[in-house]
Amino acid sequence: MRPIWFLLMTGVWAAQAGGDPFAAERERMVLRQIVDRGVRNADVLRVMRATPRHLFVPERLRSLAYEDQPLPIGYQATISQPYIVALMTELLSAGPRHKVLEIGTGSGYQAAVLAQLAGHVYTIEIVGELAQSAQEALRRLEYGNVTVRQGDGYKGWPEQAPFERILLTAAPPEIPQALIDQLAPGGRLVAPVGETSSQELVVLEKNAAGKIRRRNAGLVTFVPMRRHAQ
Ligand code: SAH
Repeated sequence: MRPIWFLLMTGVWAAQAGGDPFAAERERMVLRQIVDRGVRNADVLRVMRATPRHLFVPERLRSLAYEDQPLPIGYQATISQPYIVALMTELLSAGPRHKVLEIGTGSGYQAAVLAQLAGHVYTIEIVGELAQSAQEALRRLEYGNVTVRQGDGYKGWPEQAPFERILLTAAPPEIPQALIDQLAPGGRLVAPVGETSSQELVVLEKNAAGKIRRRNAGLVTFVPMRRHAQ
C-alpha cells in the first residue's frame, strides 16, 4: 500500500495540473529564477506562484510565458522578466493598507501581482491599446482592486494622490518631481532610472517629515518612459 503522504501529494498535484496546465512550469519559474536568485519574501513568492503569467502574454508566445526572459507585447513594450517583477515587488513592499501607483501598465501582469498584496492599484499606460487589453485581462481574471487609465505617467494621478507606494516599469532619465510629490510621507518609490539601455534600479523613500533618501539596488533594462502620447 502506498503511504498516505504519497496519496495526498498526488492529489494536490493532480488538482493543480487539472486546474492549470501551467502550474508546474510556474513552480519551476519560482524556484529556479526567483528563489535561487535571492528573493525570499513569502508573500512575493506566494503571488508569483498564483498569478497566471501566460494569460498576460500574446497567445503565440504563451509557451514561453514562464521562461527566464522578458517578452514583447507589441507597441515597443515588453512584459518584464519574472525575476525582475519579483525583485521589484519585494523592494516595493506593498501591503493591504497601501494605495499603489504603477507607471507603465503594459500587459497588466505586474499590476495583477501588486493587486494581491496592496489595497488598491492605480496604473497608467500611455498606449491606448495596451491600457485597453490590460484592463480586459485584469477584469477577466477578477482582479477587482485595479484601476487602469490611459495617460502620461510623468504627470502621475493627482486625483488619487498621495500613494504609499509608487512603481515605475518604464525608465525616465530622472524620477519625475510630480511622482515624488504624489508619494505619501513614509512612502516608497521604486524605479529604473537612466538614459541608456541599462538603468539603475532606484529605491526612494520619503520619511514622515518629507525628507527624501535614495539608494541604488542594481542594474536593470527597461523600455524608456515616453515623453508624450505617440
Ligand atoms: N509593467 C508592465 C511592463 C511594462 S513595459 C507589465 O507587467 O507588463 C513599459 C510600459 O510603459 C509600456 O507599456 C509603455 O507603453 C509604457 N510607457 C512608456 N512611457 C510611458 C509614460 N510616459 N506613461 C505611461 N506609460 C508609459
